[in-house]
Amino acid sequence: MKSCIFCKIANKEIPVELLHEDDLAVAFKDIKPIVPVHILIIPKKHIESIADLTGKQELLAGRMIMVAKKLAEKLGIAKSGYKLLFRVGRNGGQEVPHIHLHLLGGGRMSENIRVV
Ligand code: AMP
Ligand code: ZN
Repeated sequence: MKSCIFCKIANKEIPVELLHEDDLAVAFKDIKPIVPVHILIIPKKHIESIADLTGKQELLAGRMIMVAKKLAEKLGIAKSGYKLLFRVGRNGGQEVPHIHLHLLGGGRMSENIRVV
């Protein structure tokens, strides 16, 4: 999708250091990290949210999780633990309408999930 910032990153129209790239997904650092290690894993294909995934895209969903797991190991946060987060739609607080999995770690995190 032309105007999508994450499509531009995946297509390398915007120069961003990719921590991972394969046929289905790429990973890069979040521009506004909320914890010491804050990585985003995104599909190369433009899919707005997890709510738009089809059964045929199971492999993609699994791939994003495996990339997060491997990056956590590579970045040294696998043992201390981390959080994986998909925000979905308005109530989920999703701001960028291109699926992204947050890999969050490097410090103990509070839950802080409440309806506002
Ligand atoms: P969400 O609220 O789950 O949609 O998260 C969107 C995330 O994308 C936020 O953590 C932003 O800081 C991050 N973000 C937005 N634009 C960029 C960008 N150009 N490069 C890296 N991260 C970005
Ligand atoms: Zn996109």
